[in-house]
Amino acid sequence: MTNLLDAAMTALAADAAMQSDFTALCDCCGRRAGTPSEKAGIEFVQSRLAAISPAAALEPVAYAGWRCPPATLRLADGSELACNPLLGSASTPAAGLSAEVIDLGRGSEEDFKQHAADIAGRCVLVRHEYPFSAVHVHRRRKYGWAMDHGAAAFIIANPAPGGGPLSGSSGRGGAAGIPAIATDYESAARLAPVGSKRARVHLKIEGEDYPAQTRVAILNLPGQTRDCIVLSAHIDGHDLAESAMDNATGVAVVLAVARAFAPLIASCRRGLRICFFSAEEWALAGSRQYLDRMSADERSAIALNINLDTVGGDTQLTALTSEFPRLETFVVEAATAAGLPVNTYAPLMGNSDHFNFARHGIPALRLVAGFDRPQCNIRHILTRGDTREKVTEAELAAAARLTATLLARALTDSDDVVMALRKK
Ligand SMILES: [Zn+2]
Repeated sequence: MTNLLDAAMTALAADAAMQSDFTALCDCCGRRAGTPSEKAGIEFVQSRLAAISPAAALEPVAYAGWRCPPATLRLADGSELACNPLLGSASTPAAGLSAEVIDLGRGSEEDFKQHAADIAGRCVLVRHEYPFSAVHVHRRRKYGWAMDHGAAAFIIANPAPGGGPLSGSSGRGGAAGIPAIATDYESAARLAPVGSKRARVHLKIEGEDYPAQTRVAILNLPGQTRDCIVLSAHIDGHDLAESAMDNATGVAVVLAVARAFAPLIASCRRGLRICFFSAEEWALAGSRQYLDRMSADERSAIALNINLDTVGGDTQLTALTSEFPRLETFVVEAATAAGLPVNTYAPLMGNSDHFNFARHGIPALRLVAGFDRPQCNIRHILTRGDTREKVTEAELAAAARLTATLLARALTDSDDVVMALRKK
């Protein structure tokens, strides 16, 4: 194992392409699924995998697609407010909808309970929260509560002044739902009630559902047994910026680690499979279909998923270990032996593609930067601030070293250790 890790670390230290891959992905812009920008991102990644091995392949996956011309949000006096429909938002009637706004502040479950009698027929206004923390309430839960209480529409505001509107998925996936948009801090301030009089808005969204298809870029590098480690990252993002932190960082690091290990895998106990997913921002649709359609036998050969999502933008890395207790120990022991810092967080989080592996009983972790550090650069993800200058070369290099350390162990440790990671 030591020789393997030493060889991989030496290759990584000499790899100049990680930074240029990161820049090239940012140059593709936001890579929102269903756009030419996403297509350019997938084709770039595929060409980089093909340069490692001719075995690189693309597998199609379907997801509930949606497209929408610009939506509008206006106050009763006609003035226009910032408005970015959430991916997959339900449409308003063709003429739009007019309704009063009820501001639920943060929009916690308690906030919804307290105002339960006042929500039906109104537009619910809530605030976005820093997504990588133990106390965060996800946008899609707030959206679900708004629907359950009969809200006419859902508005989520960026709590940061000057930060612009947000992006994100409604999670509707072609099913029933309510119109859902994001707005900015300044617009939300104008939606506050004046005395006892609530603000009234006119909202118009004309989206269209369609059956969409995207691809998973895959490279299989076989080891000495049928078992493999899947190293993954999502290519897609949102169109307000470059999706640099989320997730050009993860893709660039996975590519670099794949280059470093590729010549070494044939002599390892387990193989390495690289998976670059898309439609992750669409409620994890790409990886969901990829895992769901696999046979139980194929899934049983995946010993571990290491998923990189947002690994730059802060200096601290955390492994989200998805309630596999032995995985947490495995991460801490491997990192400590290599002298690398890492935090761990045990609860299962449905916030990236590792969730779909974990859901099928496959040990799965997400490496993420900035966990519980809401003041770091990662606060800008999902906004126009998710741009390349928020990420340092040192952050990418640190993420690559930690990934290589975990991977080297997972590729070579005994079955007693690695297959036991499945035990709950
Ligand atoms: Zn992400």
